[in-house]
Amino acid sequence: MIRMENVIKKYTMGEEEVYALAGVSMTVKEGEFVAIIGPSGSGKSTLMNIIGCLDAADSGIYSLNGTPIEHYSERELARLRSRQIGFIFQGFNLLPRLTALENVELPMVYQNIRTAEREKRAKEALERVGLGGRMNHKPGELSGGQQQRAAIARALATKPSLILADEPTGNLDSRTGREILSLFEEIHEAGNTIVLITHDAGVAARAQRQVKIQDGRIVGEEESHGNTILEDGMEIHCGK
Ligand code: ADP
Ligand code: MG
Repeated sequence: MIRMENVIKKYTMGEEEVYALAGVSMTVKEGEFVAIIGPSGSGKSTLMNIIGCLDAADSGIYSLNGTPIEHYSERELARLRSRQIGFIFQGFNLLPRLTALENVELPMVYQNIRTAEREKRAKEALERVGLGGRMNHKPGELSGGQQQRAAIARALATKPSLILADEPTGNLDSRTGREILSLFEEIHEAGNTIVLITHDAGVAARAQRQVKIQDGRIVGEEESHGNTILEDGMEIHCGK
């Protein structure tokens, strides 16, 4: 689904050039749950913005669904961003004056989906994340975990093929964070492709595969699923 080859992205700060991504190559297959882990400033958000077609690389190849990104028109990219990719952020990004239901419906308003259909889809998505009883609450009347559930429902309602989450548990206490990660696992088991970005090793360990990034480069990869290490075709099972 995602293929990157030698992707470079630099920012110019006065005289200085900062390589946020200094040649990143990676792939994500359909149906995978991958964590991208690295410390603050390592390039994670820059990578997420490129994967999500919110920003373009300076050089290198980025293919989404088998097509290099530069082959998509602006119109097609806008469509990809709004229908194919579900974004989830650390700060939830819900509109405070709208109810949970209205927040989940909003992206579908922009897609001109008729009222009855979008209300049906939004309700289904909210039920799915366990917020069936809180649909008419505004963000200020919900806990942090419930707000993130509403944001996840909003991402799911448009039935995207890729879920992109940037530090989704960063604003939550550890127990609530674990509940949100269980929800990601359920969503993955239901067939979604998930790319989760985090600086937290405990969070990354919940994904199937971890890609480690440092100073804009991929510095390692690890299968975290079941604690199995693959070495020369041999499987070694480690106890926790
Ligand atoms: P992370 O999400 O891992 O914390 P970022 O992708 O946000 O890392 O940033 C990677 C590097 O690029 C950092 O050195 C950061 O300061 C720099 N950077 C990110 N965005 C900008 C920007 N808009 N202008 C200048 N430098 C930036
Ligand atoms: Mg970041």
